[in-house]
Amino acid sequence: MSITQEAVIKALSHVDDPDLNKDLVSLNMIEDVKIEGNKVSFTVVLTTPACPLKEHIKKACETAIHHFIGAEVETDITMSARVTSRRTDNRDLLPFVKNIIAVASGKGGVGKSTVAVNLAIALAQSGAKVGLIDADIYGPSIPTMFGLNNYRPNLRQVDGKAKIVPAEKYGVHTLSIGFLTDPSQAVVWRGPMATSALRQFVSEADWGELDYLLFDLPPGTGDVHLTMVQTIPVTGAVVVTTPQEVALVDVVRSMGMFQLPHINVPILGVVENMSYFTPPDAPNKRYYLFGKEGGKRLAADQQLPLLGEIPIVEDVRTAGDQGLPIVMNPDSPLQRSYQELAANVARQVAIRNATLPGTKKVGISIH
Ligand code: ADP
Repeated sequence: MSITQEAVIKALSHVDDPDLNKDLVSLNMIEDVKIEGNKVSFTVVLTTPACPLKEHIKKACETAIHHFIGAEVETDITMSARVTSRRTDNRDLLPFVKNIIAVASGKGGVGKSTVAVNLAIALAQSGAKVGLIDADIYGPSIPTMFGLNNYRPNLRQVDGKAKIVPAEKYGVHTLSIGFLTDPSQAVVWRGPMATSALRQFVSEADWGELDYLLFDLPPGTGDVHLTMVQTIPVTGAVVVTTPQEVALVDVVRSMGMFQLPHINVPILGVVENMSYFTPPDAPNKRYYLFGKEGGKRLAADQQLPLLGEIPIVEDVRTAGDQGLPIVMNPDSPLQRSYQELAANVARQVAIRNATLPGTKKVGISIH
């Protein structure tokens, strides 16, 4: 029996991507099909590097080849990834950035910045190119969490223009409002100065190619949020909350801003932070200090995915203060929690890009 390219493609057209509900061939995910005697090799190009369904899809491809072509066929499948993008703007800003993700919260202190930093690093650990902009004017915390307190960004000439060079640490490119001011001055960054700094970060910085650029937004809603959606096309928002009722009320209000018809930024899902406390000497116990599963209920009520549940671990705070985020610690159970969160966020971006209209800037001005 001689195997043909057509037969391989036909067999693989029976394999669906379970998230996108379409077959791998229609999704253009099959590349480099080669046949040598009894051996078939090809590459499956997934839409996220840390795809939780990688093994499942690989197995389904093998089964399809054996079922439709022959049980004796040898397969050699390479799994790779190319993060998708649905930008429909003219790309005058951030031309090589595929996805822009807002990390938002209803109120301060729920751990939004901690989640943004650890999520960014976990995405980078999965193999993605990641940037992080600290736009939290009320308390820029990225310099401390990245151990970059005295860092001042350099300039680099790009196409004859001086561009700000983001810092690079733990595999993440980052700029913070905190790099431009010392902490005692932070208060003057409110209002117009903060929004102009944010514009500068997107128009005058050299970000290069990124799969995901995360924005750590101030809590609630305000000028910075509006500036962001009016300046760049936002792929989606990740909303961080604690399980308490009071936090949940505020988070619904902040989600409302993204869901306004003329803003219309999809919410990728909810992260419940400080879900429960497990004492180090009793790893099987869970104490629900802020109430149980509030974030999970919120996600279900709003018909949104629950992207992750991050427990309270004292090391999170100490790690943040020491400039070595917890996701960098292979001995912490939170490394796994953040890796799962990263995989879920990447997956929701891929689903969003495959199912919803393209992203563009919001064309409104509110005075
Ligand atoms: P926000 O950005 O929402 O204002 P932060 O990320 O600054 O919140 O977090 C507030 C405080 O809570 C910080 O001291 C941080 O270290 C701590 N924190 C955040 N998440 C956790 C967690 N899962 N376990 C323990 N402490 C946490």
